[in-house]
Amino acid sequence: MLPMTTMAIHGKTRVVGVFGDPVEHTLSPPMQNRAFAAMGLPYVYVPWHVSAEYLADAVAAIRALRLKGVNVTIPHKVAVLDLLDEVTPQARLIGAVNTIENRNGRLIGHNTDAPGFLRSLVEETGVTPEGQRFLLLGAGGAARAIAVQLLLSGARSLVLANRSLARAQQLCQFLDGLVPQTHVEAIALNTQSEEFLQALVHADVLVNTTSAGMYPHHKEPPLVSADLLRRELLVCDIVYTPRRTALLKEAERAGCRVLSGLGMLAHQGALAIEIWTGRQAPVELMKQTLDEELAKREKEIDVSEGGCNVRD
Ligand code: NDP
Repeated sequence: MLPMTTMAIHGKTRVVGVFGDPVEHTLSPPMQNRAFAAMGLPYVYVPWHVSAEYLADAVAAIRALRLKGVNVTIPHKVAVLDLLDEVTPQARLIGAVNTIENRNGRLIGHNTDAPGFLRSLVEETGVTPEGQRFLLLGAGGAARAIAVQLLLSGARSLVLANRSLARAQQLCQFLDGLVPQTHVEAIALNTQSEEFLQALVHADVLVNTTSAGMYPHHKEPPLVSADLLRRELLVCDIVYTPRRTALLKEAERAGCRVLSGLGMLAHQGALAIEIWTGRQAPVELMKQTLDEELAKREKEIDVSEGGCNVRD
């Protein structure tokens, strides 16, 4: 357990934080404050509970209070786009902003979730998307962000498998043609179907971007069982509560390499710090902080099964 370093607040303190609804269970404040302290920077990171009706006021306050920036989480990642002066081309493609930068009163929207996934993938597994065949489970906001990132990073092909086929087809339509000559396909998430089994056989990397397996559904059967997984497959799950999801346990049983969602969460936070400060963030320390916080949560869950809704 690392000592919790606290930063003294003074006239030169810069304030950043997160807008969300709810925010009580966000893991970002301990992660970001420990990073700032380790970097020796006079920043504090606070949670702000912002309901939809006050989102525009809260965004205006970034300018009024000269905040260096904020993160934006559920449910504001899409609605906030219309309230900013500028949105990066990638965040615009993804259709969601999770980090706002205040550049001398001009508010710029970034998406660090998608590059956070990419950095976690490359740093923790050594796998780069170039030439790889990806099978993504899901077609929600996280799937769109990761799919855009993988296509822009040179993925050879991308199959989207979703419970609701229509939603996968809609996302596929948007992605198709984003990068010419890259094959994008939508199928139903049905492990009984030949189509899905073929997609599994031909994939190099499987990424779960659905919320299946996330607390309080962590004891439900995994979307894909060990007997369907080849040991050559890299299996990633962006769910991080619990850290070892049922899908990752199955993948380990099948002898696959696995990647949990903790790295993505740490890297999206590290990238936000880099946008606000221009300095490289201590990502290993941030992962360690998340690991400690999640271990505490998992202990609580096992003991009480009480409410725990962790989102970032
Ligand atoms: P959305 O609500 O936009 O999408 C949810 C997706 O999950 C849909 O594809 C939905 O399918 C699918 N789904 C939900 N329940 C099931 C189920 N029981 N079986 C099969 N599919 C299911 O959510 P997001 O995309 O924003 O987030 C998804 C997950 O990613 C969350 O758990 C979130 O915590 C995690 N996440 C992790 C991050 C990280 O940093 N590690 C960052 C961002 C998100 P359908 O369309 O059929 O309803």
